[in-house]
Amino acid sequence: IDEKKLMLQLHPYDEGRLLLLVNDITQIERIEKMRRNFVADVSHEIRTPLAVLNGFIETMQNLPLSEEERSRYLDLMYQQGRRMQSLVSDLLTLARLEDSTPPPMDQWIASDAILDHTKNTVQELSAGHHTITIHADAKALIAGNESELISAVANIAVNAVRYTKEGGCIEISFLLVDGEGVFRVKDTGQGIPAQHIKNLTQRFYRIDKSRSRETGGTGLGLSIVKHVLSRHGGHLDIESVEGKGSIFSLLFPSQRIKNIN
Ligand code: ADP
Repeated sequence: IDEKKLMLQLHPYDEGRLLLLVNDITQIERIEKMRRNFVADVSHEIRTPLAVLNGFIETMQNLPLSEEERSRYLDLMYQQGRRMQSLVSDLLTLARLEDSTPPPMDQWIASDAILDHTKNTVQELSAGHHTITIHADAKALIAGNESELISAVANIAVNAVRYTKEGGCIEISFLLVDGEGVFRVKDTGQGIPAQHIKNLTQRFYRIDKSRSRETGGTGLGLSIVKHVLSRHGGHLDIESVEGKGSIFSLLFPSQRIKNIN
């Protein structure tokens, strides 16, 4: 009772009697606080690129600029616009994942197809600056939503590229461990200090905000991955050594896996 917040209300009841209503509003207050924090976080994330964009527009309106300057400013404005677009798109994805019914058990997606999509995405992003290897240790079908599964694995692999310096290695594999299906993404990147690991799937949680923004991150990727996994009955496991690299494993339960080796 100590930790609970109770709302007491007295109502007239019958003749000369009072009714005391006791409502536990702990949960309502907690949800309301989360909602307020979320609105504040989103506003903050949108305010920054918007301010930069407006700054450039004002400069272009008020100063005579060379063709070269104009083109550079337009590029920078475009980047800010893209940033806001990614943010809104990730927010919509999250809202959809939170709202909709769990994915079907009668649609089966091949692990190889997910690896292929992921490979294309990371190769394009890395543009030859990393050594990327793909291992299909096992082949299986996974029951669920194809685009969600592809986006979850790709999100993790895209992070591996973003947080690994040029010349580093990224290994993406699919394997079966005790009947569970595991997509594993291993990188030789900057690694994650131990105290941050448990918070990484919170919305907008970043270890280094400026690095995340520089590389086009919205701070919502791992939150999306966590939702996709929990909708598929799976979970995310993160191992990392600061300065050496990380291993992200997306684990899917045996009920959603059909081995086709
Ligand atoms: P972001 O858009 O910032 O990448 P994410 O939710 O995808 O957002 O990731 C949250 C944070 O986790 C990142 O900002 C980064 O600090 C950290 N992170 C994610 N993946 C890696 C990785 N492979 N290596 C190091 N840090 C990572």
